[in-house]
Amino acid sequence: MPASLPSDLIRKEVAQLPTYNAGLALDQFKARYGVDCLAKLDSNESPMGPSPLAIKAMQDAATGVGRYPDAANTALRDLIARSMGTQADRVIVGNGSEDLIGALFRAVIRPEDKVVTICPSFGLHEFGAQMFGATVTKVNFNADWSFPVDGLREALRSKPRVLIFSSPSNPAGPAISETEFRQVIADTDPATLICFDEAYAEFIESSKRFNALQILDDAGKPSIILRTFSKAYGLAGARVGYGIASDPQLVAAFMKTRNPFGVNAMAACGASEAIGDRAHLDKTVGLATRERERVATALTSKGYKCAPSQTNFVFFDTGASAKILAEKLRTKGVLIKAWLEEPFENWARVTVGTPAENDAFLNAL
Ligand SMILES: *Cc1c(COP(=O)(O)O)cnc(C)c1O
Repeated sequence: MPASLPSDLIRKEVAQLPTYNAGLALDQFKARYGVDCLAKLDSNESPMGPSPLAIKAMQDAATGVGRYPDAANTALRDLIARSMGTQADRVIVGNGSEDLIGALFRAVIRPEDKVVTICPSFGLHEFGAQMFGATVTKVNFNADWSFPVDGLREALRSKPRVLIFSSPSNPAGPAISETEFRQVIADTDPATLICFDEAYAEFIESSKRFNALQILDDAGKPSIILRTFSKAYGLAGARVGYGIASDPQLVAAFMKTRNPFGVNAMAACGASEAIGDRAHLDKTVGLATRERERVATALTSKGYKCAPSQTNFVFFDTGASAKILAEKLRTKGVLIKAWLEEPFENWARVTVGTPAENDAFLNAL
């Protein structure tokens, strides 16, 4: 028996946090459920995996791991800057964009600070801030799944330290329109750091795209746009995300609060190759956009309500406890993510996989 921990050892802000609701790792599935996994659709991973060029680059880089990687991530930041049309000193990379969410909260949040986000929300946008004693206000999506512009403007009047939300939204799926985005940014106080999490940007249909970076630059307010190699680039296991900040000083601050060698040498090489493989990205996005329509249509015809999706997943109302449904589907070899956040406990998020995986999900349902 280990000795019991002193009752006040863990900070209360940490003790109160929920455990991260991560998907089940594939190698644990069979041991737990006794069936082969037919469709792992719980973590928004790409069924196409990474570019073969990225895999090759990671294999080649493995021979060099006796040395520490470049802590400044110079080569990768240059490539990202070029692809985003900005300067490298405004780019930061991290051990997944989750690492950067942590870095920005560590840099700016003081106890009692206010943070504004939307609901349903990506867990870390809320818990990452609560960890440092912030109070988080969550503004609900409108009933038609449009972004709650009026609610956000109202919440922003309290001049929160950070405004953070994802678009396209995880878990809901819709993307904010350019007009709505401009309205929200216009009403954000210059003392508020804007964090616009675009983890699913690559999946947005062309008519709904806009240049958030340009709008934020024109607004001249402190901001960071977050992107990741985990979703459309299929590199979830490599752990690389990046941010474009409004000011190199923000990058300098977040470099201090992130893990110094957070992006390992293999991951950096893999991401650098992945950026250049446009054909692989197009194939991945093409498959996801075709199949998300097919899955949403099939769900709707079965009588389920779905939120509109600009992502590689569909958020739907299961009509009863989503946790129970997700558990039943697991016994049939299908993994989806039951949403645990009030008032969405009847909703589940299903990642768009290959046509065969999506059929396995629909049949099991
Ligand atoms: C998946 C996801 C991320 C982060 O992913 P990393 O793997 O840490 O880069 C960040 N934000 C949202 C909204 C996501 O869905």
